[in-house]
Amino acid sequence: MTRTPIMAGNWKMNLDHLEAAHLVQSLAWNLTDVEHDYEAVEVVVVPPFTDIRTVQTLIEGDNLKIRYGAQDVSTHDEGAYTGEVSTSMLTKLGCSYVVVGHSERREYHGETNELVGRKAKKALDAGLTPIMCCGEALEVRKAGEHVSFVLAQIDAMLAGLSGEEVAKSVIAYEPIWAIGTGEVATPEDAQEVCGAIRGRIAELYDEGAAEAVRIQYGGSVKSSNVRDIMAKPDVDGALVGGASLKADEFTKIVTFTK
Ligand code: PEP
Repeated sequence: MTRTPIMAGNWKMNLDHLEAAHLVQSLAWNLTDVEHDYEAVEVVVVPPFTDIRTVQTLIEGDNLKIRYGAQDVSTHDEGAYTGEVSTSMLTKLGCSYVVVGHSERREYHGETNELVGRKAKKALDAGLTPIMCCGEALEVRKAGEHVSFVLAQIDAMLAGLSGEEVAKSVIAYEPIWAIGTGEVATPEDAQEVCGAIRGRIAELYDEGAAEAVRIQYGGSVKSSNVRDIMAKPDVDGALVGGASLKADEFTKIVTFTK
């Protein structure tokens, strides 16, 4: 099976809706210029909630093939949950993806693997594709326990999902020590954990699910390192933070094969 690489830009809490329009337009122009094949490498932007309507209007209005999603979602359908956003609100805005369990949500909002798994399930039930994040802190890596730590996260996050659901999901391996630090994991580090995740999915479900699930690497990905990371057999894409805020840099990342 050939998995379509997926390059997703997580804008985090950056860019207001006017800046969002500018970035998406610049990215679209760049990708048109280089005749980007969106079927060969999928392009996704993940703006803050307040930008999604603007991004949708632009993408639908100009018939762009860039996909988009949200950075988080509620496990509730509606009601007295101040500050939360439901899956149906996201699907009404044309979102295809939602990031769940980013390390910043885990660190600053106390999100657990169990909650992340429930968010992923909620997303799948609504027809959204979850991008489920996992990854170890520096102490865990230094202790040489990164593989077992990440596999325990995977076991817990996927506990409520079927093989078919996992097959259509995206998993992002993001070592916390490499996020926003400029400290990129080597391609071998990325492959070691992404390969172990795929192996675990084969054990938990079957080869079909393991072959189908797309696994991204994330952590200080840039145009200068993306090609070597993407050359690894179990790395199917990148979740990109800082470098996705610059249209020219993100264009180079997306077009890593050129
Ligand atoms: C991220 O936030 O998911 C991320 C990988 O950030 P950065 O690329 O800036 O390290």
